[in-house]
Amino acid sequence: MNTPWGYPDFDAHEALHFVTDEKSGLRAIIAMHSTHLGPAAGGTRFWHYADDADALTDALRLSRGMSYKNAMAGLPLGGGKAVILADKDRTKSPEMLSAFGRAVQSLGGKYVTAEDVGISVADITKISTETKYIAGLPVEGGEVGGDPGPHTSLGVFLGIKAAVKRALGKDSLNGLHIAMQGAGSVAGGVARLAAQEGARLSIADVDVGRVEKLAAETGGTIVSPADVLSLEADVVSPCALGAILTEESIAALRTPIVAGGANNQLAAPGDGARLHARGILYAPDYVINAGGIINVSTEYLNDGGPELVRSRIEAIPGRLEQIWTESASSGRDPAAVADAMAQKLIGRG
Ligand code: NAD
Repeated sequence: MNTPWGYPDFDAHEALHFVTDEKSGLRAIIAMHSTHLGPAAGGTRFWHYADDADALTDALRLSRGMSYKNAMAGLPLGGGKAVILADKDRTKSPEMLSAFGRAVQSLGGKYVTAEDVGISVADITKISTETKYIAGLPVEGGEVGGDPGPHTSLGVFLGIKAAVKRALGKDSLNGLHIAMQGAGSVAGGVARLAAQEGARLSIADVDVGRVEKLAAETGGTIVSPADVLSLEADVVSPCALGAILTEESIAALRTPIVAGGANNQLAAPGDGARLHARGILYAPDYVINAGGIINVSTEYLNDGGPELVRSRIEAIPGRLEQIWTESASSGRDPAAVADAMAQKLIGRG
C-alpha cells in the first residue's frame, strides 16, 4: 500500500487532510507541515494534476516550503498549503469553494488559507463566507492586506540590492544590467523599482502583450524566453516559473548573481551547490520572496499596520546577509544554509 509516509517529499508533516464533497465535486488536500511557530499558514492552489500522486507531492512540498518561508520571515506562523484537484476544464463553482471553506473551518484555525495559483481574490471572498481562518481579502486604501504582489516585489528589489552590494560592492543598481524572467505581477514591480534606480533591463515573457507593456514602461529590451537565463548580466532575476535552475541552465549562466521572486527555483537538491561551485551568489527564493506572506500575515494576525509590513520586508536583506555570511564561513551553499536555519527555527534542526 502506498501511504503518504512513504513519499519522497514526506517530511514529518504533522497532518494531511483529504477532503471530499461529492455534491460539489470538491477534492482537496490540506497539508500541515509544522505548527511549531503558529497556525499552519499558506495559500490554496487550484490546479489540474496529471494524477492524485502529483497533487499530494505538490501539497507536501509546498507546505514544507511555507514552514521555511514563514520561519525565515520571522512570522509567528507555521507552514501549510492546500491544493484543490481541478478537473481538466478547471471547473470551479461557488458550491465547491463553500465546501472547501467548511473544510478549512473544521480544522479550527490550525490551518489558515489565502490565494495561490488559480485562486483569485473573488474566490477567497467566497471561501471566507464559510471560514474565518483566511486572509488575502480585498482591503480599503491604507489597510493591510489585498494583493501580495507589490509587497513581494519590494522584498525582491531590496534583496537584489543586497546581493549587488555583496557581490559587486555597489550601493545602487544604476547602470547595472538585470535579466528578468517574467513580466507578471512580481516581475513588473521589481522591474519598475529597478528602472527607477537606473538599471538596464532585459525582459522575457511568453505573454507578448505583457512583456511589450512592461518593456515600454521601464525602457527595457525584450528578449526571448529561451535566452534570458544565459544573458551576460549583473543579475539574473527569475520571476516566473519554478524549477528553472537545472544542471544545464546553471552551466549556461553568465551572471554573478541569481536573485528573483519565483518559488522553488532550484530543480534538484544539488542545484544550490552547483551555483555555489560556479561562484554565483544565490538569494534563496523563500527568503527573498517573503514580502507577500508578510503582508498577508499582518492582515490575518491584525498585529500591525503598513509600517510593520514595511519594516518586516526591510528585514529581508539582513536575513540574506546572514545566510551569505554563514555560507562564506562554512563553505556550504546559501540554499543549504537557509534550509538548516529554517529547520532550526521550526524545532527540527
Ligand atoms: P504572474 O502570473 O503575475 O506572472 C508570471 C509570469 O510568468 C506571466 O506573465 C507568465 O506569462 C510568465 N511566464 C510563464 N512561463 C514563462 C516562461 N517560460 N518564460 C518567461 N515567462 C514566463 O505571477 P506572479 O504573481 O508574478 O508570480 C511569479 C512567481 O513568483 C511565481 O513563481 C510565484 O509562485 C512567485 N511568487 C509570487 C508571489 C506573489 O506575491 N505574487 C509571492 C511569492 C512568490
